[in-house]
Amino acid sequence: MAKKQFKSESKRLLDLMIHSIYTHKEIFIRELISNASDAMDKMYYKALTTDELNFNKDDYKIKIIIDKDNRTITISDKGIGMTKEELDKNLGTIAKSGSLNFKEENVAQEGYDIIGQFGVGFYSSFMVADEVTVISKAFGEEDANIWTSKGADGYSLEVCTKDTVGTDIVLKIKDNTPDENYDNYLNTYSLKALVKKYSDFIRYPIIMEMPVSKLKEGSKDEFDESVEEQTVNSMVPIWRKNKNELKDEDYENFYSEKHYGFDKPLRHSHISVEGAIRYNAILYIPEKAPYDYYTKDFEKGLELYSNGVLIMHRAPELLPDYFSFVKGLVDSEDLSLNISREMLQHDRQLKLISKNIEKQIKKELLSLLKNDRENYEKFYNSFGRQLKYGVYAEYGMNKEILTDLLLFHSSKEKKLVSLDEYVGRMPEEQQYIYYATGESLEKIEKLPQTGQLLDRGYEILYLIDDIDEFALKILSSYKEKEFRSVSSNDLGIEDLDKKEELEEEIEKNKDLFVRMKSVLEDKVFDVRPSKRLKRHPVCFANDGDISIEMEKILSQMPNGQQVKADKVLEINIEHRVFEALKSAMKDNSDDFALYTKLLYDQARLIEGLSIEDPVEFADNIWKLMK
Ligand code: ADP
Repeated sequence: MAKKQFKSESKRLLDLMIHSIYTHKEIFIRELISNASDAMDKMYYKALTTDELNFNKDDYKIKIIIDKDNRTITISDKGIGMTKEELDKNLGTIAKSGSLNFKEENVAQEGYDIIGQFGVGFYSSFMVADEVTVISKAFGEEDANIWTSKGADGYSLEVCTKDTVGTDIVLKIKDNTPDENYDNYLNTYSLKALVKKYSDFIRYPIIMEMPVSKLKEGSKDEFDESVEEQTVNSMVPIWRKNKNELKDEDYENFYSEKHYGFDKPLRHSHISVEGAIRYNAILYIPEKAPYDYYTKDFEKGLELYSNGVLIMHRAPELLPDYFSFVKGLVDSEDLSLNISREMLQHDRQLKLISKNIEKQIKKELLSLLKNDRENYEKFYNSFGRQLKYGVYAEYGMNKEILTDLLLFHSSKEKKLVSLDEYVGRMPEEQQYIYYATGESLEKIEKLPQTGQLLDRGYEILYLIDDIDEFALKILSSYKEKEFRSVSSNDLGIEDLDKKEELEEEIEKNKDLFVRMKSVLEDKVFDVRPSKRLKRHPVCFANDGDISIEMEKILSQMPNGQQVKADKVLEINIEHRVFEALKSAMKDNSDDFALYTKLLYDQARLIEGLSIEDPVEFADNIWKLMK
């Protein structure tokens, strides 16, 4: 039989599976049952939506047969099956490629559930089997096909015969090793327990042959040993069950079974709505962002069921972008089975459901914030950025919904604070909510602009995400307190004595500032004495709406927008450097231009901007040394 090679990424993944140190090898059963169930969903859906198909509901079963002598487990379904091409494509390649580097890293480092995250379910059978055979007959096909593989060195694929549409998967279970007792999987009771543990809520009956002993006829102590087919699972989907009967663990198992994520969800919410529109929903707030969450590849959405039948794996209409991290499902009796993607977008019922869901998510998040701060911060570290994008997106249309969910770093306690907390502890005379932007918390802490504010005991929000300042600009104020950058022209902290002193100083040295400006020409918008500096000689302040941080971010964008912040060079008139400037001015010395340029370059460095002419800068320092 000619051998085919796995696609290279699949091969590496298979290697990973085969040599897996993964402790939950047992989940292979969950994966295979879940595939069988999906395949039958597809078949069932076809039967329901195609008139000429007459299908017997009793056919929908998943059968698990153990053959101890041959060390095999066979899992059979009457699902939609796979054609030869589909076998080749589905089992020869992993669906989501390009992510394998990441996988290996994480398996090694953190033992993440790669299986769940990447939907490589079928391959998990290689954790327990050294040979896997798939016999499948697709709906509408004459021939069946047999696919066999012993692992990473390839697979074979041939035509064969099979009476019924559907798929049989035969696992040849590995021999025991000192570390692993594979025999366990061949034990009827252990396997039954695993099926119950992982797949109890599968809607189709899962049938196993269980040994039974019956008293021999006419005997009191002699037994007949035989086997009897039993349905192992309870079959009621979890979302149809009564909340009170379910434990956290049940929801967590369901989350893994559904591949919603590889983490343990931080919170779940189970809703049953009766009334004008009836539906059940289970929503999860994950802890960790999927690897592709902040890329354009990520697709949001909830699973959508119509009366228990899956009609869409991912209905994006059910989630707003800013809550795109939510996982889960909605099942409604009021939705038509035949609804198409296009119709979905305009469906009135669905709009109502999604509005309710949005409210529910917000409620859950607020409650997490209030009652379980530690977990909320975990959530926020993963998805806070998405909320901030949400504030900024669509010209701030949704900011009201999101404001109370935001957290920022701050100068106090080095912890994340909410805006409510910030405003709640503002000293009475403080006019604005202050913020400073920078690359890292360490760098922001050293910004000279924060000096006077911190001295007064004012708290400053430390913004380190690109999106932060844009989000605050859109918010513009919180509880009637405006946001103010520490570099802003008006900080609202003038005391009157100082003000007079300052005006006097400006008046006296008017020419000095004018001359500095003429040295720097268009590089700065203005040169002024500073009200915010304490120990440092110089900094930039900002006139206008575009901050220096925004200028940096915008200029990095593809097809970069050439916007510039209006930079005001501020000089600390209480600093010795001011004396030096004054005397250079008086002596009409060349040093005046030299000092001015150096101060300007220093201000750039402090802001994390590059020096425009490094050679001139180096020369200027050398001139200073002479
Ligand atoms: P996933 O189920 O996450 O897509 P798998 O590796 O488990 O990933 O399966 C890959 C694909 O193979 C499935 O998407 C499905 O199309 C097909 N498949 C797997 N098992 C079956 C089955 N029992 N019947 C029909 N198709 C199947």
